[in-house]
Amino acid sequence: MRKNIVAGNWKMNTTLAEGVGLAKDVNEALKGIDAKCDVVICVPFTHLASVAGVIDSKLGLGAENCADHVKGAYTGEVSAPMVASTGAKYVILGHSERRQYYGETSEILKTKVNLALAENLTPIFCIGEVLEERENGTFLDVVTKQIEEALFDLSAEDFGKLILAYEPVWAIGTGKTATAEQAEEMHAHIRSVIAGKYGQEVADNCSILYGGSCKPSNAKEIFEKPNVDGGLIGGAALDCASFMGIVTAF
Ligand code: PEP
Repeated sequence: MRKNIVAGNWKMNTTLAEGVGLAKDVNEALKGIDAKCDVVICVPFTHLASVAGVIDSKLGLGAENCADHVKGAYTGEVSAPMVASTGAKYVILGHSERRQYYGETSEILKTKVNLALAENLTPIFCIGEVLEERENGTFLDVVTKQIEEALFDLSAEDFGKLILAYEPVWAIGTGKTATAEQAEEMHAHIRSVIAGKYGQEVADNCSILYGGSCKPSNAKEIFEKPNVDGGLIGGAALDCASFMGIVTAF
């Protein structure tokens, strides 16, 4: 059966010293509780190796992106093999900020997913509609298309290795959270789209996280929904107490 997961996305925040300190704090806090979910922190590339050295196996580590090439003359890029070599096990792909600011298309993301899987990294693949699409009622179709275009060339076995994160773009970093009902409607839809392609068992085994201004005060209500299997957490992951407040919402 699918896992419950809370994953932090630190984005372009924290210096190396601050990041290592935050990772240590989360690691210590986790030791003291019996978490009912897997816990992952996705950190800047520059922090990966150092953070890997200060956390225990109970805390998962991921990158926030990887390149769409394996190696070579791609100045400034970081490949999936490079990410994996740090000890990271996860990689966020398709975050709306990457799609919006760096022009990442479904074609590019398809390549990135394959390269990540080839390194045994678990992609945390983000999908979600912008405000206009929410308001004009096309949001279910938009998300269906994002999944179909980037992921439906995968075998059922490889699809089964993914974590999905539904992140309505209008809720990311805005303080505006989707209601638990809006999240559940979309998560149930996503699961039915997966079932239509890969069958009910693959769909039932897929962890689908919610992301978008999730905080300790709203996490419980959202996570209680049957098709919501945890959260991808931005801002609130930068503070150990807030992040742990979300982890313990399970
Ligand atoms: C995110 O960017 O993945 C995210 C969910 O951000 P926030 O929690 O800050 O809305």
